[in-house]
Amino acid sequence: MELSYWEYKSWLANVDFTVIGSGIVGLSCALHLKETYPEAKVLILEKGLLPQGASTKNAGFACFGSISEILADLERHSEAEVLELVSKRYQGIQLLRSMLGDEALQYKETGGHELFMQTDQALYEKCLQSIDAINELVYPVFGSKAFVHKPNSFKFQQIQSQYITNVYEGQIDTGNMMLSLLQKVQEKGVLILNGITVNDYQSEGDEVTVHTDTFEMKTSKLLIATNGFASSLIGADVKPARAQVLITDPIPDLHIKGTFHLEEGYYYFRDIDNRILLGGGRNLDFKAEETVQFGQTSLVQQRLEELLREVILPGKEISIASRWSGIMGVGTQKRPIVKALSAQVFCGVRLGGMGVAIGSKVGKELADLAG
Ligand SMILES: Cc1cc2nc3c(=O)[nH]c(=O)nc-3n(C[C@H](O)[C@H](O)[C@H](O)COP(=O)(O)OP(=O)(O)OC[C@H]3O[C@@H](n4cnc5c(N)ncnc54)[C@H](O)[C@@H]3O)c2cc1C
Repeated sequence: MELSYWEYKSWLANVDFTVIGSGIVGLSCALHLKETYPEAKVLILEKGLLPQGASTKNAGFACFGSISEILADLERHSEAEVLELVSKRYQGIQLLRSMLGDEALQYKETGGHELFMQTDQALYEKCLQSIDAINELVYPVFGSKAFVHKPNSFKFQQIQSQYITNVYEGQIDTGNMMLSLLQKVQEKGVLILNGITVNDYQSEGDEVTVHTDTFEMKTSKLLIATNGFASSLIGADVKPARAQVLITDPIPDLHIKGTFHLEEGYYYFRDIDNRILLGGGRNLDFKAEETVQFGQTSLVQQRLEELLREVILPGKEISIASRWSGIMGVGTQKRPIVKALSAQVFCGVRLGGMGVAIGSKVGKELADLAG
């Protein structure tokens, strides 16, 4: 693209910090940079018209790990690592709440309920038997018993008689959260250019040259916050993982309130605006969902509809209002990657399925690392 002298001077010259990606991590990072260095020129380059990864596509659970997920994590991580993960999620939500306020987030501490299918008897019993031990493990985070039993008060079908609930979990309005974060970042004077894909970069001395699909520019520091799309820029251990979602039309007198996890977190649903938002099913075909292409498959969508009609709202007239997908970044380890790639280039990626909870904290850590 041909740029005028003015365009170049005002937007692209003398940039101190360039952030790639305007998801929750990129925006939080830019906000913290500007708060720490009010005089600095901070630019965000975003390939989508809107943030176009996971931050505007997710389910809006303020969650810290259901009991079956914590037990599964303990098979691959030490107790200290699992405690650190849960603690980071909890601190991340507190940071997000203090940054944006509960009203902007529409934060509601409804509790997060894990449901177990009748066919998952062994897992259900294992989780029931582990409640005391897990409560003890996460006590330093919550300071009281986080996990309790609850009866099946919402009358779901084909599930065990009790939920295991984390009483501290809640839900937010994802759209409001991202809109407020964007507004806050812009109020601070951060420049955002949408529709710009970064293809590549080169460090030269104490500068980095950034090659985009539209122009080339120089920056003192480059911060990569591209999560599921990160491997093309940093080649690290981050794989894309598509997650599909559907939402119903409004349901009169909807009696279901809260956030719900099913089948070890592979399915999740919540109420929003008298609708049910339901997502998951990546485990039906992991290979097909390891993609950066947005879209839906009939395999996953059929299973979501089956759960909706047979388990969540049996006997109700339901119609589907819309369907979408988002791209997460996952790896063999659940810990996000926040590190320096060189003296000028930094990344904060691999947020997994918990980026609402940890995104603001990862963004702040990335800003601190680069500052
Ligand atoms: C369906 C779904 C449900 C989820 N539910 C929850 C939940 O309930 N609770 C929870 O805690 N987490 C949830 N998550 C996970 C959470 O949304 C993510 O972990 C989080 O949003 C990641 O934020 P991010 O800023 O790292 O990445 P993203 O939001 O993906 O942002 C990365 C940005 O980088 C941009 N980008 C990528 N490559 C380039 C490039 N080369 N040049 C320019 N820009 C680029 C992308 O367009 C994107 O906007 C869910 C995710 C999905 C998909």
